[in-house]
Amino acid sequence: MRQDIWKFTLLLIIAGIVGLALGAPLVTLLVMALGIIGMQISGLRSLRKWVENPGGNPMPETSGQLYQLHRDLSRKDAQYTKRKRRLNEFVSQFRSAIGALPDAIVLIDNEGKIEWANGNAEHLLGIRWPADAGLRFVNLIRNADVAKMLRPSEPPTEGVEVTGTVHSQIINLKCVRYTNQQRMVIARDVSRLIQVNKMHADFVANVSHELKTPLTVLRGYLEIIENSADLPQKYLKPLTQMRTQSARMQSIVSDLLYLARLEDHNHRGTFQTVDVTHVINAIMEAVQPLIAEKNHKIELDVDYSLSILGIQTELYSAFNNLITNAIHYTPKDGLIRVRWCASTDGASFSVIDNGIGIAPQHIERLTQRFYRVDTDRSRDSGGTGLGLAIVKHVLQRHNGELIIESNEDVGSEFRCYFPTEQLVVVKRTQSDADSESA
Ligand code: ADP
Repeated sequence: MRQDIWKFTLLLIIAGIVGLALGAPLVTLLVMALGIIGMQISGLRSLRKWVENPGGNPMPETSGQLYQLHRDLSRKDAQYTKRKRRLNEFVSQFRSAIGALPDAIVLIDNEGKIEWANGNAEHLLGIRWPADAGLRFVNLIRNADVAKMLRPSEPPTEGVEVTGTVHSQIINLKCVRYTNQQRMVIARDVSRLIQVNKMHADFVANVSHELKTPLTVLRGYLEIIENSADLPQKYLKPLTQMRTQSARMQSIVSDLLYLARLEDHNHRGTFQTVDVTHVINAIMEAVQPLIAEKNHKIELDVDYSLSILGIQTELYSAFNNLITNAIHYTPKDGLIRVRWCASTDGASFSVIDNGIGIAPQHIERLTQRFYRVDTDRSRDSGGTGLGLAIVKHVLQRHNGELIIESNEDVGSEFRCYFPTEQLVVVKRTQSDADSESA
């Protein structure tokens, strides 16, 4: 800038001197000023041309301040071009990596239109890129659950299983929201996994089924021998133990078979209105001897007007497991509260005890098959280690959820939550419920 001022001042001084010599200083000064302005305008114009197309136009011949500006701009342009090249390389590497994934990836915009898809999208979903760009995803994959999963308001789910249109595989579709506007659908062929799971479930069900008859025979004979008058005394204890263990095996086999039935999605019973009060009353009657044995106090808090759309036997089994667990895992003279009441977003069946409680590290694993906090205690109480797995499956079949809260040596709460759409409200009073149960 200072250099320019010196240069222009010098030019104006020269013009002034020449003007004085010629006798017209103002005219020469004016001509020189116009010349300087013209030079600047021409420099700016060529700089603008160069900025518009740095590659196509020659570097403008500028000096002073314009020259500086030009140098700064060309340095920035070189940096920008380098960064752009690097970004382009990164994007193309990223796309090649996504393209090489064994899963199908489809990017969709806020209107549900396809923005991009990798090569496997064609193999798994029949979506071709770029031919299908701009088409609505739900028009190509016609499935109500998929449409629901893609709704902006829908919370993330475990995914939806559909039958592939190309090779009839079973495909799991998951939706991931990666910006406010865009979603990524990840599709994976899970046919093999489902087949292996089915084989595993069938195997467990078959083994359990095969064990049922031999165990019944064994138990029957053991009872006969145990009750025979001429049985030597020394055999009595081992025989009693054998009978207890075979009874335990029978319980495990029958729980395993029950679980296999619950896992079988083709074997879904028909949902009917289930009177939960009636179910609770039936369980309370059945567990009365156990309660009396441990001298527990029971508190019932039940909403008589609330019923569930579901399968009565399954709900009985789930609630019964929770109540018997509370009885078993609460020392004598305990307090067990059973609640069935509505909440803002549905209703909950809860069993709250002041028993031994559970340490936090076990809580997440309690619904796994055969997981026990204390194996000996579970065996002593006649537990199979399958009760909470059954509860979890029953709740899944009823769109419910099991929530466990517990503190060691303080007590536990096992809450079965059911969403509003699973509920039926029937207007009736406690006396109606009592007389119906009777
Ligand atoms: P089990 O047949 O052993 O009772 P469950 O699946 O019903 O099997 O329960 C799994 C484990 O969870 C039990 O072994 C026990 O350790 C723990 N548990 C379940 N209910 C309670 C409870 N109310 N209080 C304390 N521990 C419990």
